[in-house]
Amino acid sequence: MKLIIVYDNEAKNGLKPDWGFSCLVEDTKKILFDTGADSEILLYNMKKLNINLEDIDIVVLSHNHWDHTGGLDGFLKANKNKAKVIWPDKKESFKIIKGIYSTGALGIFIKEQSLFLKTKKGLIVLVGCSHPGVDKILNSVKKYGKIYGIIGGFHGFSKLEKLKDIELIAPCHCTQFKEEIKEKYPETYKEIKVGSIIEI
Ligand SMILES: [Zn+2]
Ligand SMILES: [Zn+2]
Repeated sequence: MKLIIVYDNEAKNGLKPDWGFSCLVEDTKKILFDTGADSEILLYNMKKLNINLEDIDIVVLSHNHWDHTGGLDGFLKANKNKAKVIWPDKKESFKIIKGIYSTGALGIFIKEQSLFLKTKKGLIVLVGCSHPGVDKILNSVKKYGKIYGIIGGFHGFSKLEKLKDIELIAPCHCTQFKEEIKEKYPETYKEIKVGSIIEI
């Protein structure tokens, strides 16, 4: 399984940074998790990263905020509408494809779904902004197995001790306490930005 960050507030050289988040998950199918704020930037980064847009079968949107859904229309046009779009409208956890699941929409005011991916090393949780709370998301995934990693935006999350048993901590996008996380978990912290690839 391969994860490629295609939209983030920070980017590697030659790629465009912008406020928002999107990550491509490549497994037996290709799933785009969120679409960033602007399709021009999204498509630019995907092209630079040699991603074939028509290969993407599914788009999962974490929540209905512009910095996660803004790129959707432009992406679907370029994808020739081949992808099925999954909005956060189910309350229960459900399977997307074999080994890849949604937590279902969590949260009271902002409904947000996260993905969890089954890998040899354990579960990887992929989050958009984590509005429902990173701890709440982790708790909802825990019952399905050992959590190996968490990747994405940790909006306002400050209960950093909740991350202590996680072996791959990759906060990006709207994470407020990135520096504190890096300081507390120097061994397991991983810096990610547009162009970062995580292979498991
Ligand atoms: Zn948001
Ligand atoms: Zn966001």
